[in-house]
Amino acid sequence: MRIHVLIGCFCWLIFSQSAQSQDLWPRGVNYQIFVRSFCDSDNDGIGDIKGVISKLDYLKDLGINGIWLTPINVSPSYHKYDIVNYMDIDPEYGTVADVKKLLEEAHKRGMHVLMDLVVNHTSQLNPWFIESQKGKGNPYRDYYLWSDKDQKKDPKNWWPVDKKKGEPSDTIRYYGYFGSNMPDLNYDNPKVREEIIKIGNFWVKEVGVDGFRLDAAQHIYFEDEHDKSRLWWQQFRAEMEKTNKNFFMVGEVWNVDSIVAPYLKKGLHSVFNFDLAGTIIKSLKEEKGDSLLIKYQRIMKLYKEMDPAYVDATFLSNHDQNRIITELHSDKLKAKLAAAILLTLPGTPYIYYGEEIGMNGKKPDEQIREPFLWDAEASDKMRTKWIKSVYNPEGAIVPLKSQMVDNHSVYNCYKKLIHLRNRDEILRLGNITPIPVKAREILAYSRQYKGKTVYVIHNLSSKATEVDLSLLFKGKLTADYNNGSEMLNKGKILKMNPYSSVVLK
Ligand code: CA
Repeated sequence: MRIHVLIGCFCWLIFSQSAQSQDLWPRGVNYQIFVRSFCDSDNDGIGDIKGVISKLDYLKDLGINGIWLTPINVSPSYHKYDIVNYMDIDPEYGTVADVKKLLEEAHKRGMHVLMDLVVNHTSQLNPWFIESQKGKGNPYRDYYLWSDKDQKKDPKNWWPVDKKKGEPSDTIRYYGYFGSNMPDLNYDNPKVREEIIKIGNFWVKEVGVDGFRLDAAQHIYFEDEHDKSRLWWQQFRAEMEKTNKNFFMVGEVWNVDSIVAPYLKKGLHSVFNFDLAGTIIKSLKEEKGDSLLIKYQRIMKLYKEMDPAYVDATFLSNHDQNRIITELHSDKLKAKLAAAILLTLPGTPYIYYGEEIGMNGKKPDEQIREPFLWDAEASDKMRTKWIKSVYNPEGAIVPLKSQMVDNHSVYNCYKKLIHLRNRDEILRLGNITPIPVKAREILAYSRQYKGKTVYVIHNLSSKATEVDLSLLFKGKLTADYNNGSEMLNKGKILKMNPYSSVVLK
């Protein structure tokens, strides 16, 4: 290839583009796709892998560097967090070949793909569990946790078996933390560990995924056995790194920071910061920013003691929580403010699909996973139809296509902020220092990297306010992002509209 000048130039272009993208990964902006609801390529009403492929250019343009796909393995449920076959793709979503194509196309664009790995439990219909129920002596018996006496650990989650399935005794029960349809695997059984490593290797080595989002990572063992769960993930990581030293995993450890922190010790590269997400929402609801950074810095200190290079996975809400804009009473200004906070804090932000167009959603779960609105219903060929939208009916949310041409849309706010973050390494990689201000409704911080600084100021209140910049900074600053404020008195006073943000340099 080097011989041919034209091809050589082309290769250099590809190389320089991917070198730039490599620089972002794993610290760029990520996007969580609930596959069923995202984009339907074959008009059967169900989102699919080919649909995701068709939207890679959209995501690239938005500035996305990594994609987390919610589970795509074979599963009887709509959400697929209960797997029957880990080595294949659910036919509703496509094939392994489609996933390979997705990876090829994503990598071509400098984007990375994380698969959801759901291995704390399986489906009740998994062949391993069907065998396991046949009684003692079955080779799959110890793939799961069985007990014939009253259990002290988590007693409410031990389930009886239907006698027709083969289990002869009424007293014998199996363990399922998330319910009787999701029996927990037994990680004290080396064969189970072998199976899961085989599954991991298949997707990382044979198919080429960039890593995993680990579902229920803290539930591998019982609640008083976090150390055992943590050591399992260390083992899994070491095995995957034999195949790909850049392999990456981000864990769902939905717990308080002191429980989460040890998982970072040579184990998970990254964990979702549920504490921070909750604190951002609380601050926005109470319109007070003063406690956010105190809490955040305490978490950071704890996590960095475990791994100085750890990657903080930040987010506002995910597929298990009410959508952010619904939490903020569908106030678009507040949605933009939430985005501005998320995208100017340290960490690697994850945006939940639809968040960037201000989609609404409130539990039950199906209603926080509603179809993405690409275009007005009559002309939206790619909209999924597997569920009726309750919170995003026609007319309630402006679809993406119209938001793209509206400079003041939630979408364009997200896009501006993501691109700002992508081109500014200070926002991506810098430290954070609170800027003390008297007004509790003001959230202000500086970010520093390699001797350079940017200043971020948010007004969390419904009232306009003025910030005296001359008390805080020396020299003249210019705005890199400004969503509703103006400089007065030769740049000394910053007049901020309600729920506005500014990034100054
Ligand atoms: Ca489909």
